[in-house]
Order: sequence, then structure tokens, then C-alpha cells
Amino acid sequence: MINRNGTIAAIKVLNESGIPDLRDFSLDDLVFGRGAVVQYEPIEGAEGRIVFDGEDAIITVNANLENIGKKRFVLAHELAHFEMHKNLLPAFADDDKTLNDWHTKGEHELEANDFAKEILMPENSFKPLCQGKFSMQLIKTLSDTFQTSLTATLLRYKDLGSFPVGVVYIEKGIVRWAQFTNDFKLQFIPNNSKVPVNTVAYDFFYNKIPLSNEPEKVYAIDWFPNDFKLKYNQDWSFNEQCFRIKSDAVLSCLWGQ
Ligand SMILES: [Zn+2]
Repeated sequence: MINRNGTIAAIKVLNESGIPDLRDFSLDDLVFGRGAVVQYEPIEGAEGRIVFDGEDAIITVNANLENIGKKRFVLAHELAHFEMHKNLLPAFADDDKTLNDWHTKGEHELEANDFAKEILMPENSFKPLCQGKFSMQLIKTLSDTFQTSLTATLLRYKDLGSFPVGVVYIEKGIVRWAQFTNDFKLQFIPNNSKVPVNTVAYDFFYNKIPLSNEPEKVYAIDWFPNDFKLKYNQDWSFNEQCFRIKSDAVLSCLWGQ
């Protein structure tokens, strides 16, 4: 059964606070109102940390995190531990791995990320704004509206949007993970494989071609060389657009014409 605890806890917090979403309400104020003190300080080796003291807690967000959306996601994630996991452990430190490795972490981390997604981009507010055709401009607009990182916004769009899309995370020229909407025609790119040739991401990493602000047409067979469906559909193509999320990492978005 799918664990919806994180989502349900976030909806409860919004309801109890009397707000539909955080578009006109500060996340820091919300956290403070729930009983936790927030501080921003440099932390070595972790993105956020929570220390419980009875019913109260101090949440520290790493002040060195590069973007406001990322800081908000970390704060929302720590708020989840405060709301949901108070009784489990006296202190949590969250590093890049627990927050970003969306596939392989424990139940509490998944719950905290689900909570963060729902509280920052509540389904009821977000979904109506992400109907219609995919574009990176739409993702940027949503990211500005909800003050979320492009990565988090894109993954939320993948879950709630109406248009088939694939998202591939590539670090140092190697595919780390790929996620697709259920209605995307092709579904499998192996993790830890070299990014395939003749793709925008390949050109960026291996041919040093700068990223463009416009999508480019790529052939499906180049991204999915082993997919049997493409054996007789070699002319299938889609749009690819990459954006940088770290000095050595990009997200590549794939979507239909
Ligand atoms: Zn955590």
C-alpha cells in the first residue's frame, strides 16, 4: 500500500493554519507557529538538522545552500520530522543524500519529502496551474509562484501535470536516475549508464556545447537504444531541454512535440 502519511500530515498543517498554500504566507512563520525555532547557519556535511527539546525543536538550515527553493525544501522537510517523527530520535541531520536520493531511502525520509512536496506545492493549488502542454517556461513560472527549486517543481509537475514527460538526472556525464509519467511512451534508461550520444545532454558533457534556452529535437532511438518499440519506429522524436542544477549536473527534460 502506498504510504500517504507525509501528504496527509502536510494537509493537516495547512488546514490547521487556515491557509490553502504558502503563496502568501511565510514558511518560516508557519514553522515558528508550529513550535520550532528556525536558524540559518553554515553546516558541514548536512543540508538541515533538527534537535528536539521536549515539545520544542530547533531546526537549522544550511545557510550555504545555493538557492532559496532548496532552502525552503530543506526547512519543509525538517518541519515534517518535527510534525511526524518527534518521538523517534533526539536529533536528525540531513545530508544531500537523504534529501536527494529519491529512490533508496528509508520510510521516514520518504514521508518527510512527501510532506515537503505537499506543503510547498499543495495538490489543490498546484494541479490547476499545470494543465496543458509542458514547457520549461511553465516550470519556471511555477517555480517562481511556489518559490521552489526547478528540480522539485519539475518532479511535482511529473506527478500532477497533464502532459507526458521524462526527467533524467545526469551527473558528470552519467545518468543517475530517470523518472517518467506513466503515459510517456518509453520508460527505461538504466541508472549509472553513460549518457547516450546524439542527445543534448551528451553534447553538453562530452562536446562542451553550452546549454540552450530552447528545446531541441532528438530521436527517441538515441535516448532509448534498446527499446524494442523503437525497432520499427526509428523516426520517433521528442523535445529535449537540459538545465544545470550543479556545476557538474543537469536535468534533462524529454517531452513530445
Ligand atoms: Zn530527513
